[in-house]
Amino acid sequence: MSHRPGSPTTARGETLLWQQALTRRAALKRLGAGTLLALGLWPGALHARAKTGSRPFRFVVVNDTHYMSEACGAWLEGAVRLMRRERPEFCLLAGDLTEYGRRDDLAAVRDIFAGLGVPTFVQIGNHDYRAGSDGFVREPERRSLRAPRDARRAAPGRSRSLGAWSYSPGDRAAYMKLFPRRLNYAFEHGGWQFVGLDTTEGIFYQNTTIQSHTLRWVDDHLAKLDRAKPTVVFTHFPLGAKVRYRPINAEALLERFRNVNLRAVFSGHFHGFTERHAGAVTLTTNKCCALKRSNHDGTQERGFFVCVAEDNHIQRRFVECPLPAASPARRPDRGRSSRGASLPAR
Ligand SMILES: [Zn+2]
Repeated sequence: MSHRPGSPTTARGETLLWQQALTRRAALKRLGAGTLLALGLWPGALHARAKTGSRPFRFVVVNDTHYMSEACGAWLEGAVRLMRRERPEFCLLAGDLTEYGRRDDLAAVRDIFAGLGVPTFVQIGNHDYRAGSDGFVREPERRSLRAPRDARRAAPGRSRSLGAWSYSPGDRAAYMKLFPRRLNYAFEHGGWQFVGLDTTEGIFYQNTTIQSHTLRWVDDHLAKLDRAKPTVVFTHFPLGAKVRYRPINAEALLERFRNVNLRAVFSGHFHGFTERHAGAVTLTTNKCCALKRSNHDGTQERGFFVCVAEDNHIQRRFVECPLPAASPARRPDRGRSSRGASLPAR
């Protein structure tokens, strides 16, 4: 009978324990991030220091402002005043700043958030791409678009034009110009690390794939992160298990953070509150913060999160931004195209 060096050899019971431990470790290694989450395990949490030694600080998290008109701007200014009242040290804005990705609208949102008086860290959403630049996808049509594979499957009779749409990922030049270096990036604050990641696939909203440039960026930059520092990831598309509109390869992204002391993931896109817990990691989406779009979960409130980070924990509170009476909000399941077809929500 042979044993590996260092393994217990004196008692059968001890050998068995060693083998069990090995088997468990080997099994854990094979499990994906989603399974680890489901089991309440997250190896990176083991790197956490008991105390970060940093002072508590406050920040706000906002998603899906969907600016499309001056009326949206006036309402959003009021929302930003409510945010300012919370005295945050910065703001995370998790995508879909605008409805149409127009340059002027993106600039308006940027200027309104400047009113916070503290930095706003943005992330791109599928609505921050300009559709139509190639002459195939127009605004009403983008509402019906799923990711390419799916679009072809959904309407084979129109495969020619859908084929063209399939390769029309939209144009994010205006976003890039107005928010330079705000696709994949990280910053530190108060002993915490914040990582903004681009999870979009152009204008597509469903059955999407996180693009390889993001996965590559994570592979290249993860070594620069301090594994022990509490870490927050923010994205537009939800990463929590079984949340609607979660990208197909969300787990491949999460998997990369398994040895990081990841504490929270904040996302938008699904307009509604969802929360997934797994060990130390809390993954959420929130209701939208838009005058003229509503929530996919049927709730009425618009608002944002106020978060307090202290040691390894984040306390989170929802703050509602009241709508004006008789708001013109559009139901998400009632989008209309120029042909009058009923189109799915997103
Ligand atoms: Zn949205």
